[in-house]
Amino acid sequence: MELGLRGRRALVCGASKGLGRACALALAEAGVEVTMVARGEAALRATAEDIAECTGAKVQAVACDITTAAGRERALTALSAPDIVITNAGGPAPGDFRQWTREDWIAALEANMLSPIELMRATVDGMIERRFGRIVNITSAAVKAPIDVLGLSNGARMGLTGFVAGLARKTVRHNVTINNLLPGYFDTDRFSAFIEARARARHASPAETRQAEMEATPAGRFGDPAEFGAACAFLVSAHAGYITGQNLLIDGGAYPGTF
Ligand code: NAD
Repeated sequence: MELGLRGRRALVCGASKGLGRACALALAEAGVEVTMVARGEAALRATAEDIAECTGAKVQAVACDITTAAGRERALTALSAPDIVITNAGGPAPGDFRQWTREDWIAALEANMLSPIELMRATVDGMIERRFGRIVNITSAAVKAPIDVLGLSNGARMGLTGFVAGLARKTVRHNVTINNLLPGYFDTDRFSAFIEARARARHASPAETRQAEMEATPAGRFGDPAEFGAACAFLVSAHAGYITGQNLLIDGGAYPGTF
């Protein structure tokens, strides 16, 4: 399917690895000029060069921490009027809420709620003026089915989800949509860290824990980041202007509810 995105310009955050990288690649394949953001310069540059080489797309790399005001300024100076914004940053570490301090909560809110909101604040009015805009927030399946040890993530991402539900209905009239993609288990570096933490808690090996989680997923496997990237590319495509304010789970059927 031709996605109608040739020549559009996208800012993709958390893009050197994992799900962000997969979104950047899928957009570059669709003919989008991609500005990729991540903290580690070397890994980001290598990924950006790979993507540019295999797609022929124009790709630029901006090394910065997107959860800081200075980082967002750098990213938005490199690409001041994006047509597409994919927000993404690392998720907070798992733990017990009794040990979390106010600072831990503020850091989680900065990363997983306030940074995406600030990026929307900086870009949405320009999108409205140009009558095209697509914003996708990478959140988590934990928004629909909270995981106790990921309380910082559950709380912060829920705040973002509530905010998006309101704003997304205000912008769609101008062909600016805002949606959240909710990953279940995708085989990335972050996921390996999660498996290791879960294995420690269960006094099992990471390999056993990985196998058990895979078998417990209705699909019988973990997600391939490329599947996530493809869903993202469709959601930002010219065809998806009537989809807004949605929380799309991509979890191999793990969430058991009807809705
Ligand atoms: P990952 O660790 O594989 O990749 C994260 C990427 O984000 C890297 O490129 C990293 O450099 C970048 N990054 C992290 N913090 C950043 C910051 N402050 N500023 C700029 N770049 C930053 O992680 P992933 O698996 O791709 O996960 C992406 C998001 O999806 C995370 O928030 C994660 O919690 C969430 N998530 C992932 C899964 C999964 O199964 N992989 C499941 C649920 C939720």
